[in-house]
Amino acid sequence: MTNVTDILIIGGGVIGCALARELSRFSASVLLVDRAWDVAEGASKANSGIVHAGYDAVPGSLKAKYNVEGAQLYPSLCEELSVPYRQCGALVVGFSEEDRDTLEDLLSRGEANGVPGLRIIGRDEMLALEPQLNPDACFALLVPTSGIVSPYELTFALADDAALNGVSFRFGVDVHSVSRESDGRFLVSTSQGDLFCRILVNCAGSSSAALHNQLSSVKYSITHRRGQYYLLDRPAALPFERTIFQCPSRMGKGVLVSPTVHGNVLLGPSAEDIDDPLNTETTQEGLDSVMEKVRLTWPGVSLRTNITNFSGVRAHEDSGDFVIGAVEGCPGAYEALGIESPGLSSAPAIARALCAQISEEQALTPSPETVPYRKPAVPFREMTPEEQEKALRENPLYGNVICRCEVVTEAEIVQAIHRPVPALHIDAVKRRTRAGMGRCQGGFCSPRVASIISRETGIPLLEITKNGGSSYLLTGTLSERAERKDRT
Ligand SMILES: Cc1cc2nc3c(=O)[nH]c(=O)nc-3n(C[C@H](O)[C@H](O)[C@H](O)COP(=O)(O)OP(=O)(O)OC[C@H]3O[C@@H](n4cnc5c(N)ncnc54)[C@H](O)[C@@H]3O)c2cc1C
Repeated sequence: MTNVTDILIIGGGVIGCALARELSRFSASVLLVDRAWDVAEGASKANSGIVHAGYDAVPGSLKAKYNVEGAQLYPSLCEELSVPYRQCGALVVGFSEEDRDTLEDLLSRGEANGVPGLRIIGRDEMLALEPQLNPDACFALLVPTSGIVSPYELTFALADDAALNGVSFRFGVDVHSVSRESDGRFLVSTSQGDLFCRILVNCAGSSSAALHNQLSSVKYSITHRRGQYYLLDRPAALPFERTIFQCPSRMGKGVLVSPTVHGNVLLGPSAEDIDDPLNTETTQEGLDSVMEKVRLTWPGVSLRTNITNFSGVRAHEDSGDFVIGAVEGCPGAYEALGIESPGLSSAPAIARALCAQISEEQALTPSPETVPYRKPAVPFREMTPEEQEKALRENPLYGNVICRCEVVTEAEIVQAIHRPVPALHIDAVKRRTRAGMGRCQGGFCSPRVASIISRETGIPLLEITKNGGSSYLLTGTLSERAERKDRT
């Protein structure tokens, strides 16, 4: 594979992948690299999945601009890419006069940002809308245009569309340093050798400030802010139709209780500053802080159906706003830096704006033709009985249910392995198909998924990993062990 490309994107989160998709519409070679072994392995896989309406960001900030523009793009983008998205609405609840002031403030910010339909409602209306809410809550900001999305499924779809249109993806490529050479090209030194490009785009999330500072005399600084969650199994009936927020604070948008697009219930996140952005462990202290706040919103909460906990790390730039555009004093270099919340909501708009700037300043010419997006098949569990029968007739692998909790068939796993950005490890299959996302968390299906990956790709079973690198699942075969025993 060549180490020279026109455009190099560092970071395969939702921002890097959305940008790659936009740039794939131009006649230039584009390579996206990520230190992880799949796309959506950073903040883009572990967040609340809320498409914020845009009432929280300070009017005039980049966060406000891109959040509102991005939220407007979501319905058509998710329809086009077949990504689960629902405009379920939200309530921001208040418990005191001080909270009422905060809600009034959010209302006027939202109106200044152009968010439609916002209004403050009283207790009766609030409880009529959401009967499980704490009756001690006095009022709430009603946000009809708030939405929910599957953040990693969106990232996979963006990446697949980019790959179909010629973008190359390389994983396990940790970028150590970036510099601009005397001929104007960039030298990007990585764990897999040196790469060269004419245009460099830094979408490296937690590393974005460190890489920026190697290119510019204007310096930025990122604080890594971890958020921990509880994920509850799918209940027979959702406790809340909408996302329920408490009033935001300096540390973020506060703890929420929200349905997910797959019908689970999400509780969190905490907000704690940490040193290592790769430290995504969950702690008793962090989870307790989440539950303390959740009980205030939802006194009837029970953790009996908790199926997993996880955490994600926000990249908070210390000025408090996004940094997007050309890198100061470094022609040919661009960035999307410090993209914390509402970064997911803003991603489609950030990608469009950045691509427009790059294509204009670098005189990129539009590609003569675009390969249409190949929508993944409807999941078997969502098909009607007639559709299931038809699918089974056309492909008998639909008859083999691999993940019983989430009803994922062998056909869907095989399709995920052969997507344009292929799923080559257990977690990659899990996030694309939901095999292992249910109550048993992969206890039953992981070995079967490993065998299918091995069969489909020719990768020896012993080399199949949980999430790439050296995260091997198996240490040897029983016959090898018997052989070793015979020799001793
Ligand atoms: C707890 C939490 C809750 C959130 N909730 C919401 C929400 O509800 N709504 C919303 O709009 N936003 C939310 N966000 C924000 C949103 O998740 C982020 O803004 C968005 O995912 C940022 O995308 P990104 O592509 O910039 O970063 P990332 O997804 O982190 O991607 C950056 C990529 O760069 C790679 N990388 C880093 N360093 C290097 C290197 N040196 N070499 C190679 N690759 C590198 C990483 O592996 C990673 O894949 C939340 C974030 C968190 C953490």
